[in-house]
Amino acid sequence: MQERTRELNKWLSAQKCQATVEALKRNNFKASYLATGAEAAEYILREAADAQSIGFGGSLSVADLKLTQPLLDAGKELLNHGVAGLTPEQKKTVMRRQQSCDLFLTGTNAVTTGGSLVNIDGVGNRVSAMIYGPEKIIVLAGRNKVVEGDIGEALQRIHNESAPPNARRLDKKTPCAQSGFCCDCDSPERICRVITVIERKPSASDIHVLVVNEDMGL
Ligand code: SF4
Repeated sequence: MQERTRELNKWLSAQKCQATVEALKRNNFKASYLATGAEAAEYILREAADAQSIGFGGSLSVADLKLTQPLLDAGKELLNHGVAGLTPEQKKTVMRRQQSCDLFLTGTNAVTTGGSLVNIDGVGNRVSAMIYGPEKIIVLAGRNKVVEGDIGEALQRIHNESAPPNARRLDKKTPCAQSGFCCDCDSPERICRVITVIERKPSASDIHVLVVNEDMGL
């Protein structure tokens, strides 16, 4: 891609991310525009300073920031159900503890330019902790998660672009994990079971949304 084209695309996505941040603020979220993932990592590490227990919602966007080591070095307790080798019972315990941790870190499947967070979950631990429970919640949204349009368009994005590769990543035996297309399956391993739309910040929760002008996660 030509340098000038790259610049213009970057400018355009910055405009959309910044407009989304303003809409999120109108919907009572704490929201920040950040130019890079590195800035998002700095923001999260600053916000983590007072937290002892830190929960991870299973997001690739968060995993890509490589926060595990700096948080461990700072003496934090990490609640990550995705750690290899956990038994199903141990995973369940970790997911339950995420619901009341000091800081919960998660991505979002979509954020609309109108300032709503839209997600589809299989277990429900992630969306549940996004709404109420943890002392503080940080939601990371790369520019690829910004949807110009309504909730229906956000759900379309999730079914078309997010759920099939996520099903494949999680090694689920769903049709989309093979074909790349959603067929609204009846698979026992279906990962699309709960839809949440957070239209405005829930009144008792402290939610920060970081909108980053880079592609992050699926
Ligand atoms: S409904 Fe089934 S086929 Fe569609 S994205 Fe979800 S898991 Fe895949």
